[in-house]
Amino acid sequence: MIGVTVLGATGSIGVSTLDVLARHPDRFRAVALTANRDAERLAEQCRQHRPDFAVMADADAAVRLGELLADMPGRPEVLAGVEGLEQVAALPESHYVMAAIVGAAGLRPTLAAARAGKRVLLANKESLVVAGAMLMEAVSDSGAELLPIDSEHNAIFQCLPPNFADGLSKVGVKRILLTASGGPLKDWPVERLSSVTPEQACAHPTWAMGRKISVDSATMMNKGLEVIEACWLFGTNTDHIQVVVHPQSMIHSLVQYDDGSVLAQLGNPDMRTPITHALAWPDRIDSGVAPLDLFAVARLDFEEPDLMRFPCLGLAFEAARLGGTAPAVLNAANEVAVEAFLNRRVDLPGIAAVVADTLDKLPNESVENQGLEFLLEVDRRAREAAEQSVLARVN
Ligand code: NAD
Ligand code: MG
Repeated sequence: MIGVTVLGATGSIGVSTLDVLARHPDRFRAVALTANRDAERLAEQCRQHRPDFAVMADADAAVRLGELLADMPGRPEVLAGVEGLEQVAALPESHYVMAAIVGAAGLRPTLAAARAGKRVLLANKESLVVAGAMLMEAVSDSGAELLPIDSEHNAIFQCLPPNFADGLSKVGVKRILLTASGGPLKDWPVERLSSVTPEQACAHPTWAMGRKISVDSATMMNKGLEVIEACWLFGTNTDHIQVVVHPQSMIHSLVQYDDGSVLAQLGNPDMRTPITHALAWPDRIDSGVAPLDLFAVARLDFEEPDLMRFPCLGLAFEAARLGGTAPAVLNAANEVAVEAFLNRRVDLPGIAAVVADTLDKLPNESVENQGLEFLLEVDRRAREAAEQSVLARVN
């Protein structure tokens, strides 16, 4: 029986993960579930999945969760704060850890899972963007397994040979073709992008996701973060990654080889496929996802991304090329700007403006031989600078 910790259990990825676990009670057991503030939702999930531990990142919410579960026979032990998250990411009885917290808040628990040698199912792309070198090193030092949940990276993983870690050029890979849906604003008139509401930005044409990643998809910052994620996961650089807009989201990414072959992974856009793949790997088990009907799909389209419409994608490519602290600054500024957009403090084009402004303001520093505290400090300073940039735009 494989024990699984689900970090971010109440989110979109967390709920899909619990759905897959419940389909295979003979294989998997939820050992710990975590959430930020939604104690009601986590309490419901605890009653259904009966974990040993339940963690609320927010201390008041942890008290509330304790009250909600007081009458539950065999109730889980309730923990609080980032220390609680780190503790359940490293439990001996937990073999796999689903890292599905949103944003840089997921970094410390994801790192704890990697350091403890777990199979890490990585949905939290921001932790690789902020601390790629550190996270990859923790994985190799501890012998942890890192399996990508992001649909594109999971697709690439499936299209690569098992020894890809030897180096992509050594295994005959020419480049990675990273697909993008283009999001809900792909065909909006550019001059009207400043009137886009949070609701419109979150109405993704092919995927149902949390609000932050939905806005990132609307600006294509999500694809930019994924370019950086792919560099770390597959040991490559931006010269070997091409972004391809593919509005149907049926091809989840492709790998082009030196001999002219191009391998792709296809499937209905449902995150239970990559989640199930990573949980069962190298086996294949049922995910509950409907089989792909190619006649219903009928056609597959491809376009080049429009960097004028999507400046965030260009900013992310630039940060990836610069390296050092630039990706961490990009990520922190984006988190602040997206939150400000969702709270209607800046307009949609304001997100790229805040990110560009923050990258300009902060010096790019080397991350070599730097620890976690240094990166958390960079994240903090970038948030401060981004907030100032938001304020300057509001006033
Ligand atoms: P979501 O907003 O639906 O859920 C986020 C989860 O994280 C919730 O359980 C929430 O309680 C928890 N959380 C939020 N802030 C926290 C904090 N400060 N401390 C501790 N926990 C916190 O997000 P999601 O759409 O499920 O995305 C989760 C991650 O997976 C993101 O990094 C996203 O980029 C990635 N991802 C999601 C999808 C998708 O289809 N939703 C696809 C690919 C990658
Ligand atoms: Mg993705």
